[in-house]
Amino acid sequence: MSTGKINVSTENIFPIIKKFLYSDHEIFLRELVSNAVDATKKIQALTSLGEAQVELGDLFVEVILDKEAKTITIRDRGIGMTGEEVEKYITQVAFSGAEEFVQQYKDKTDAVNGIIGHFGLGFYSAFMVAAKVELISKSYKDESAVRWLCDGSPEYTLEQIEKADRGTDVVLHVADDSLEFLEQGRIEGILNKYARFLPVEIRFGTREEVQHDEEGNALKDEAGNELKTIHPNVINNPKPAWTRKPAELTDEDYKAFYRELYPMTFEDPLFWIHLNVDYPFNLTGILYFPKIKKSFEVQKDKIQLYCNQVFVTDSVENIVPDFLTLLRGVLDSPDIPLNVSRSYLQSDANVKKISAHITKKVADKLEELFKKDRADFEAKWEDIRMFVQYGLLSDDKFWDKGQKFALLSNTEKKQFTFEEYRAHVSPLQTNKDNKVVMLYTSDVEAQHGYIESARERGYDVLVMDSLIDSHFINHLESKLENVSFVRVDADTIEKLIPKDEPMPSKLSEDEQNALRPVVEEIIPKGKFSVTFESLSETDAPMLITKPEFMRRMKDMSALSGGNAGFYGQLPDMHNLVVNTNHPLVTRIVAENDADKKKQLVKQSADLALLAQGLLKGEELTRFIKRSVELIG
Ligand code: ADP
Repeated sequence: MSTGKINVSTENIFPIIKKFLYSDHEIFLRELVSNAVDATKKIQALTSLGEAQVELGDLFVEVILDKEAKTITIRDRGIGMTGEEVEKYITQVAFSGAEEFVQQYKDKTDAVNGIIGHFGLGFYSAFMVAAKVELISKSYKDESAVRWLCDGSPEYTLEQIEKADRGTDVVLHVADDSLEFLEQGRIEGILNKYARFLPVEIRFGTREEVQHDEEGNALKDEAGNELKTIHPNVINNPKPAWTRKPAELTDEDYKAFYRELYPMTFEDPLFWIHLNVDYPFNLTGILYFPKIKKSFEVQKDKIQLYCNQVFVTDSVENIVPDFLTLLRGVLDSPDIPLNVSRSYLQSDANVKKISAHITKKVADKLEELFKKDRADFEAKWEDIRMFVQYGLLSDDKFWDKGQKFALLSNTEKKQFTFEEYRAHVSPLQTNKDNKVVMLYTSDVEAQHGYIESARERGYDVLVMDSLIDSHFINHLESKLENVSFVRVDADTIEKLIPKDEPMPSKLSEDEQNALRPVVEEIIPKGKFSVTFESLSETDAPMLITKPEFMRRMKDMSALSGGNAGFYGQLPDMHNLVVNTNHPLVTRIVAENDADKKKQLVKQSADLALLAQGLLKGEELTRFIKRSVELIG
């Protein structure tokens, strides 16, 4: 037996290792299992290269829990280490790696927590949970097995022992403050999180399986007990879909992998992209497009990031452009620096390239689907439009491609690309300034009357009713030339798309001037301004419009944090438009009984308010009473 002293320049790093990864202790298992997997892959590689002549045997990694002995063992049948290699790799290389890591992060606060676990600490992370670590290893080379033992002080012992099989056992003698890790459920949970797709079979405990006969009936013994066989409990799928060639995979395989990733999701994905790049960076993965509902749902199923099949994280912000975080699936890249801060990630050249690549692939895929089967693309549009719009808004590169396949839908549920729509409406809806006026509704039900009167004149109305649409409209106006958007109730249609010859008015100016004070008297003060317009006889006698600019400003300030902004504090300003050509208005003007006249004005104004959903509370109750009296 020999003893040695780890060459420590830091006073004693073990307490630091322990303290500092407090929120992330569980990653010790990821580190040790990853080492075991690496050792296994190495022996496979050496054998296939002819550099090692050994019987490979059954290759797997096993995690063994012994509650009584208070140990967790990570066992592999990999390459193993000789005594010399243990000295070198464990006490020198691994230790200096851990020491450097600690030096680097010692003074950092919680800000780095959560990411520091992402590699770099390696073997010595064992001391986060173990009071004593034992490493027993037999190299594939013809040399004696060794046992290394360290209790968390810089001293260690190394001795030769007997070990029959090639490979390494790392035995953790769990510290008293970490006994939670002796719970089977806890270990299984950690393995399921990090080891689910590791490339070597990972076993943990056993599972029983009832035996069946050929007809599928359970087999029983003479006493009537079911016959069971015991199998190792395998944690992982060593060959997940993203590591396979797209040509080998069917649609069913992709869907099955989606369910494997998100067992609680029942809906199939709409489509997917298989990423496979090896230059100038390494990236594999599958991105799925889920059905996204109208609002931003709280997302539980997120994109998962892996590094050589080891799970790293499911917060991929900064690696994937924001608008694509709505997608699902996996990304696997050894080229994403993991033990760095988030702000650093944003400026990392590789990360930028990866992010740009993903954006491009997504845009290409959508374009391909659009070109290949327009009807199918249209059918899927509602489910993807949220994130396409979000992408068009936030990413210029995505806009360049996306503007060719993004769709607008009208009230008749017809869908158009931007250019198609311009061509569709420009003959009738171009105004005097040569701008194409695109009418839209934000609420097909509530704005029904306004939509009707636009349709009657042969105009088209777009449906723009999602949360993101108010931003999107601004964006379209700035990107598409000579286009302006107005909501159908922003003004009377005649004003929205002025024609050369206005309709003659049936009321003289004097008559209008006489009527104005009567109308102004009965409507809420400071909220409406009264205008007279000559509309069609078939339009309502009075109607309420909401000027586009003011309304948009209010919408925007409501979206960006409540009603705090300047525009948010303004009262709602609406127009009450009196239709000078409506027979009822003619009758009001001719009415000599002042009370009767007031009553008719009130009734018509209330109807206009009602049409906009603005008649509420006491006013509504009174209106109903008055209507009943009028009928009776
Ligand atoms: P890293 O894995 O990042 O190199 P570690 O501290 O985890 O750092 O391990 C240091 C070295 O110890 C490894 O590179 C490897 O050579 C050796 N090693 C660790 N675990 C094993 C194992 N189970 N079998 C064989 N070698 C191992």
